[in-house]
Amino acid sequence: MSTDPIIAQTEATAPKIAVELVGVNKWYGDFHVLRDVNLTVERGERLVICGPSGSGKSTLIRCINRLEEHQKGRIVVDGIELTDDLKHIDQVRREVGMCFQHFNLFPHLTILENCTLAPMWVRKMPKKEAEDLAMHFLEKVKIPHQAHKYPGQLSGGQQQRVAIARALCMRPRIMLFDEPTSALDPEMVKEVLDTMVSLAHDGMTMLCVTHEMGFARQVANRVIFMDAGQIIEMNEPNAFFSNPQHERTKLFLSQIL
Ligand code: ADP
Ligand code: MG
Repeated sequence: MSTDPIIAQTEATAPKIAVELVGVNKWYGDFHVLRDVNLTVERGERLVICGPSGSGKSTLIRCINRLEEHQKGRIVVDGIELTDDLKHIDQVRREVGMCFQHFNLFPHLTILENCTLAPMWVRKMPKKEAEDLAMHFLEKVKIPHQAHKYPGQLSGGQQQRVAIARALCMRPRIMLFDEPTSALDPEMVKEVLDTMVSLAHDGMTMLCVTHEMGFARQVANRVIFMDAGQIIEMNEPNAFFSNPQHERTKLFLSQIL
């Protein structure tokens, strides 16, 4: 159930299937990085993707907004199939917000300007409307009082929260996270996870690569384990953690828990 009126409105008009991957394969040169990946994510789902380093988690996430290209199979995002059609790619990128390990804020722009840039230039939103929307989401990530500062004046945790607010300003229907807390000092991890928890409670469709298993237990409705480019195991969090089926999942969990 959504509590944020803007997120609720965006989600309500979106197709029921948010992301669908059918038989997706990808190679980097000779290296087969994604192997027959099948995955359906429904609207409002919160998926956590975990797995050892190099298993293809980032590649999978990046294929969903075409930062990487797959070579075989189908990827459909919000009803739009990702092909070479640039119009479709643009459309999908507008629907999908992304947050990386490194926040990639524009250092020479204020926090507010970081948040209004894409809505004004890509969505053609009038400045005042873009600023109101930015302040709405900066309040949501609990950082409105920093709006006129520059990224370098903020802590890592604050910058990551700004990066989340900036993504939300594009009114995405899906949010992708790729290890958003793994570059942060430990004391800043919680504030970013809290922001993501609140987003989950707003009904946002989320695909999160993270090893924060507390977060997974708290908000995920499904956890996926990847190894060597394949989805090895997929389950609801309780069963995933208490009763992993595969040896590789057991080994991985024993190393991180
Ligand atoms: P993860 O996010 O699970 O750590 P990645 O998706 O980043 O895994 O990478 C999966 C594998 O693909 C790794 O072996 C990595 O070295 C390789 N890889 C990633 N990006 C590239 C690239 N641009 N070119 C060649 N190999 C890559
Ligand atoms: Mg990665």
